[in-house]
Order: sequence, then C-alpha cells, then structure tokens
Amino acid sequence: MNLLTKILLWMFPVALPVMGFTWSYYQVQLDATAEQVGNIGSLVSTSGAQRLNDFLSLRVSEFVLLGGSINNCDAIDSASNFMLSVRNALQQSQGFSALVIADEMGKVEASQVARVTQSQADSTRILQNSQLFDVWRFKHIEALFKRWQNDLPELQQQKNALFMQALSMERKGEADSASYFHLQNRIFSLASQIARPPVHIDYAGKREAVLMGLSSERDTFLFTQPLITCAGHLKGYVTAFLDRTQIDEILNDLRQSLADRGINAADVVLLRTNPLRVESDYRYLNTVALKNFSLSLPPAGKFSHQFDGFLASAPVADDQVLNKVIAQMSATALNVSVAEYQDYIDQFSSFSLLVFIADSGWREGGKKLLLEASAWLIVSMCLLFVLVYMLAQNIVAPVARLKQSIDQVEAGDLSVKAEVSSADEIGQLASAFNRMTNTLQRSEEELIRLAREDALTGLMNRRALIEEAIKERHRAQRLTTTIAIAMIDLDRFKDINDRHGHAAGDWALKEFTRIMQGMLRKTDLFSRIGGEEFVLLLPDTDLSTAHRLVDTLLSSLRQSQIELEDGAVVQLTFSAGVVIWSEDSGFDEVLRCADEKLYQAKLAGRNKVVS
Ligand code: GH3
Ligand code: MG
Ligand code: MG
Repeated sequence: MNLLTKILLWMFPVALPVMGFTWSYYQVQLDATAEQVGNIGSLVSTSGAQRLNDFLSLRVSEFVLLGGSINNCDAIDSASNFMLSVRNALQQSQGFSALVIADEMGKVEASQVARVTQSQADSTRILQNSQLFDVWRFKHIEALFKRWQNDLPELQQQKNALFMQALSMERKGEADSASYFHLQNRIFSLASQIARPPVHIDYAGKREAVLMGLSSERDTFLFTQPLITCAGHLKGYVTAFLDRTQIDEILNDLRQSLADRGINAADVVLLRTNPLRVESDYRYLNTVALKNFSLSLPPAGKFSHQFDGFLASAPVADDQVLNKVIAQMSATALNVSVAEYQDYIDQFSSFSLLVFIADSGWREGGKKLLLEASAWLIVSMCLLFVLVYMLAQNIVAPVARLKQSIDQVEAGDLSVKAEVSSADEIGQLASAFNRMTNTLQRSEEELIRLAREDALTGLMNRRALIEEAIKERHRAQRLTTTIAIAMIDLDRFKDINDRHGHAAGDWALKEFTRIMQGMLRKTDLFSRIGGEEFVLLLPDTDLSTAHRLVDTLLSSLRQSQIELEDGAVVQLTFSAGVVIWSEDSGFDEVLRCADEKLYQAKLAGRNKVVS
C-alpha cells in the first residue's frame, strides 16, 4: 500500500466520529424539539380550554340577563311590545346569534337572527308557524317549570318567614351579627329562585341552525327558558343560539398560535369524549384510529405521543356542566365560584379541547436540519478529502522523486541532483541528499586522484600511466602518429640518501620533478613508476626527436644545481632508454624494451641517453 492510499485511509477514523457526532446531534435536537412541541401542545390545550370555559360561563350570565329582560310579563301579554323587547335584547347580546320564540307546543311564533342578512330574513319568514324544534325538547323544560311553579308558594312562605325573622333581629339590634348576614343571604337566594324561571341548556341545534340560515351549521349550546304571562301561565319558550362561530374562532385562534410557533400540521378541536365525536373541523386527526383504539387522553397539562402525533387535552364545560352552573346560580343568587365551576367541569364534562400535533409537521423541521447538517458534512468531508489528497501529493511526489535520485546514486551516478522545491522538511531532506552526494562525489574524486597520483611528486603513478598510455595508443592509432617512450633512472641516487639522508633524497626527487616539468610539453606524460625511476611518454614523436628531447632534458638537469635543506648542493644526472612504441606490442613490452636501453645506458657509464 503506498503512502497516498494510507493517508486517505487514515481519513476514515476522522470521518466516522464526525458523522457519528452529526447523527447524535440530530437525535438530541430532535428529542428536544419533540419535548418542546409536546409542551407547546399541552400549554395551548390548557390555555385554550380556559378561554372556552370563560367564554361559556360568560354566556350563562349573559343569558340570565337576556332572559330576565325578555321574560317581562307585561310585554309578553301585549304581543307587539314583546317582539320589540326580543329584538332589543338580541341586539345587545354579545355571544348569541339567534333567538327563537315558540308557543307552548313548540311552534315558532317569532325568530330573530343577530346581524340579519337577506337570506336570513327570508328564512325567518319561512320559519313562522313552523315546528322548528321537536315538541319533546320543551317537555323537560315544562316539567322544570311546573315543579318551580309548584314550589313557589312554599318558597314564598319560607322567604316571608325568614323575612320576619330578620325583621325581629333588626328590632333587637342584631343587624350586625353573622347570623343576620347569613339570613339575608338565604332571603336573597329565595327571592332570586322565586323571580327566575328555570333555564335549560342543551348542545344541539345543527338542523335548526341550517333551517334558520345561521352561518355555522354545527350543534351549539341552546339556552331555553319558559315565557310566563302576568297571570303565571306558560306562554311559550325563548331559545337562544350560542354563536357557534365564536367557539370556532377561538379554536382557529389557538391553531394560529401554534402556527405562529412554527407548528402547522396541527388540529385544535372540541372533542366529545362519550360517545367519541369531534365537534369541529380537523385535518390531521385520524378519527378512525381514535375510535378503533381506546383513546386515553393525557391529564390536563401533560401530553402523550399517540396516533402519529402529540396529544394534549383539557376539559371544557359541556351542557350538563352549564346546567349545573345555572341551577346553582338560581339557588344562591350569586355567581358560581371559579373553583366550583372548574370542579363541575372536571367531574361531569364530556367535552375536551384536544390539541393534536402531527409528527409529519414538526419532524419536517428535524429532517431539514439533518439534511442540512449532512450536506455540510459531505461538503466539508469532500473539501477535507481534496485537501488531504493535495497535502499527500505534496509530500508523496517529492519523496518519490527523491527515491528516484537515490536509485540513480545506487546505480553509481553521483552527479544526480535532487530537486529542492520547498523549504520544509522535505525540501531540507532533498538539500541534505544533495550535500551528501556532493561529499560522496568529492571523496570519490579524491580516491581516484589518490589511486592515480604519486604521493611524493604529484606525478602520475604506474597505474595511471598504464591507463593514459592506452588512451594515447588509441589516439595515435587514429592519427597514425608514433609514440616515443623514455625510461629514466637517476644515477647513483643511493649515494644522496646515504650522504644527506632519506628526507633530502625525497626533496631531491621533488626538485628533479619540478625541473623536468618545466621543460616538458603539455601533451607529454611524465610519471614516476618506481623509487627513482620515471617514464616519459611523448605522443606524436619519432625516435630521433625523442632522443634529442631526452638528451636536452639531461643537459638541463646537468646544469641545474639542486640545493638541499641542509644547504648542500647536489648534482643529479640520469640514464635513459628511449624507444618507439610499435603498434603490435603491449605497454609492458615497450617498457621492457625501454628498460633494456636504460640498462645499456647504465652499462655505458650512466648520464646517457640510449635509443
Ligand atoms: P644506479 O641506478 O646508477 O645503478 O645507482 P643507484 O644508487 O641509483 O642504484 P639503485 O637504482 O639500485 O638504487 C636506488 C636507490 O634509490 C635506492 C634507494 O636508496 C633510493 N631510493 C629509491 N626510492 C627512494 C625514495 O623514494 N626516496 C629516497 N630518498 N630514496 C629512494
Ligand atoms: Mg633504479
Ligand atoms: Mg638509479
């Protein structure tokens, strides 16, 4: 596996934790969002139920006032004034959309719709004399009325007795006592029971609303009370339709408050729990699932995760609760306390405000988050990949080039230079490599020089002479010239050593070399092949010229005085044998021939050149 692959593989341990981190970040974020969404749901359900309950309790008080102003026996007895008071009452009402006056058989005598449109006015005319409500609806109220009427003398009597009691307490000066205060309350309550005919509330009227052309075609709260003549007879009934659109507006408002928090796939509905029925519009609730699986609503203020969404609910007053409230109000002549009202709702109500937030809605945000995070992750991983690839290339390419250079050095080429492309460690490595090859090259050159050079005189040694002689031989062959060889041996050199010491001998050898070099041509090869034996190779020279030249060298030497270190002056001479290097003989052979001539020169008395 090459370095580049390795570096790229190392990226995986980096990428995996980053991906893991992104995933767990998404999970945590999702859980937090879920918790938040559920809490928002339960908050909206409790505050929404509060709003609905406040709205309904206000309608109860309103109807008591409305009924009081309509149920005026003088107006009821004179029919024309009566309709005027009905119209006035409805105009002043806040929460009712229509009033229907029916006779004691339930037949419509008059109807009044708040904010009348033309079509509603038409339907009002059509309704006249029709049997809008079933008769049985009024039977219950009739029974309530009869019981109330029956109880009236008794109530009146009780009230009178209590009144007398109060009067006597006043006379005794006990008007400040607690029992007197209590007595007053009971009198007040009895008076209000006597004054108020019973009111009945039910949740129905869808069909009737359609017939009357009301804008909502749903069941609503119907408030009914009997109309009583001054003679105390039942004249008929007045029924007020609670403006259903106001309930739906509240529900819409709550839905909007969820949308404002970014929760769009949500339903806020009025739910009848027994039997299960949704009383308002919805889009996301799976009512089939709600009916098939037993719906267990979480307690108010909490939420649960069911039916692919968050459920939160809080109880809302139903008709049964409102009847209890109105009955209690009649019995005490006071408003029902908030705590008592809530108690009724918790105990008896079959209505709930249900907030359902579909998973699909709020999870979209989470999915978007994951998608965004993944996109960024992929982009940054790609960038990282490219960066690491470039970095790796930056490292690997020079290393590969360096390796090539090393291969060349291994193959013997010390002249190779590594490219120094940067100042970093890799550049420094290349520079160090270059310095190393330079040093090696110098050492090699030195070794070669040492191997070819005579250490004392700096002349070529025997081995170098042989190499150079072969080259000269080739050149001479090409140019068809002749090479002359002179073998030179210093005469009686031992005597100098003996007389002046070995060091002086060395000095003399060096001086001899200097003198000879001063007179030779550049092309002449002068070498020391032994102690005081030298060979002179003269390219492009014939025998007589060579003889003459060597002779000239000898005469010059004779005239040179060599001064030794101890101040003594010595005279050097040599004997030389000169030959022509014939084409068919080797170098050893020609040296032997030259040596023979030298020997002859020695024999002939030295200080001579023999050719
Ligand atoms: P000839 O050649 O004329 O017969 O007499 P010679 O004294 O030169 O005799 P030979 O060639 O036999 O001896 C060479 C002497 O040169 C022996 C040695 O003392 C001396 N010699 C050889 N090499 C060196 C050297 O490197 N330095 C010194 N100082 N003396 C050397
Ligand atoms: Mg010798
Ligand atoms: Mg000698």
